[in-house]
Amino acid sequence: MKCTTTSVHRTSARGHGGTAVMSCRDTIHLICWYLEGRLSPPVANEIKRHLDSCSDCHMVLDAAMSTLDRYFTPVKGSDEEPAPQAA
Ligand SMILES: [Zn+2]
Repeated sequence: MKCTTTSVHRTSARGHGGTAVMSCRDTIHLICWYLEGRLSPPVANEIKRHLDSCSDCHMVLDAAMSTLDRYFTPVKGSDEEPAPQAA
């Protein structure tokens, strides 16, 4: 009788080194927090570094910035607050 032992190959597709590299997905996910300054400095640095080298994510950053800009900039002129209608 023959007993064949099949060795299981673990294909761990990991990058070299243990340092976490920001993926595009992570970056885009964190862009809002990055713009709001809610990330810790090392994380924000990682994002910044990725944005510098990745044009795709940079486009997302631009879009997010203009969105936030509109969101945070108070609209002058129309200063009306929606008054709660008391029944
Ligand atoms: Zn990217």
